[in-house]
Amino acid sequence: MTKYKILITDGLDETGQSILRESAIVDDKTGISADDLLKVVSEYEALIVRGRTKITASVMDAASSLKAIGRAGVGVDNIDLDAAKKHNVTVVNAPMSTSLAVAELTFGLLLAVAREIPRADAGMKQDQWLKKELTGVELNGKTLGVIGYGRIGAEVGKRAAAFGMNVVAYDPLVSEDEMQKRGADPVSIQDLYAWSDFISLHLPLSVQTRDMIGPLAFSQMKDGVRIVCAARGGIIDEAALITALDSGKVAGAALDVFATEPPGLTETVSHPRVIATPHIGAQTAEAQSRASEDIANEVLSALRGESLRWKVA
Ligand code: NAD
Repeated sequence: MTKYKILITDGLDETGQSILRESAIVDDKTGISADDLLKVVSEYEALIVRGRTKITASVMDAASSLKAIGRAGVGVDNIDLDAAKKHNVTVVNAPMSTSLAVAELTFGLLLAVAREIPRADAGMKQDQWLKKELTGVELNGKTLGVIGYGRIGAEVGKRAAAFGMNVVAYDPLVSEDEMQKRGADPVSIQDLYAWSDFISLHLPLSVQTRDMIGPLAFSQMKDGVRIVCAARGGIIDEAALITALDSGKVAGAALDVFATEPPGLTETVSHPRVIATPHIGAQTAEAQSRASEDIANEVLSALRGESLRWKVA
């Protein structure tokens, strides 16, 4: 039986690679450049990517044997879905595998921004006892506004309730009943901005959501709000965030994602009231193993023409 040829471009946990190897010749070219990808892509029937590799229309034009693209994770904003449809290429992802990891990181960021834990640690490492400067706020009794109440948003909501927070959420695609079942009070986006002490973003980046958290949104928020984003860079307008931090409108922000990644030492990353992490939401051993297993099985199903659990396009 001829084996499929599959290219991995952004790394894949061994669990998934061994599933693939049973039915395919697997080339792991993690970190491959855009130019090199264009040169070799015609050899492969499937590509497995994470968020780094951009699958543009030009890549799709060059990929004459391509039948499937697997995204080992959730966001598919790095894949040109229109071009995939045009070329009859199936796109699948592994949306269930990383939700808990991202929800837990979000909680870490909420606690970090409430108590300035990174600054406390940095002070200790410079022999500074910043006890008096580091009076934070409690999560208990505060309102958390979750924008985007899907898989990750709802897991964050559950954890916030356990911390004694009031959870409100805005999501135009989740019904009021469903949102209440998932533990949040549905509110309009204006009420969410007006009532929330903490805001956490869990919606996708799209034409509609790019720069959604900009000057107008900040002007509608409570003074001293704290913001966490482990969704996608580009949803927060970073220049507007800096202005809002400098004016005191926003007391602190914790960001796992940036408009450009890696961002380098931008004003956002260097800001003393921004806690920055390098897009580590899905970086747990458990999530990577689950994502690799899910995407390996899903890509093989796509190549075999079997029914799919997570077809994106
Ligand atoms: P999901 O599809 O389950 O939930 C997203 C929700 O956002 C949906 O319910 C949708 O209705 C809602 N939404 C869409 N547009 C909206 C808008 N304009 N306003 C409010 N809500 C809107 O997705 P998920 O698995 O929960 O993932 C959420 C986000 O987390 C995605 O952006 C994803 O890319 C990101 N993510 C980040 C990491 C990381 O490493 N930091 C890892 C995985 C996922």
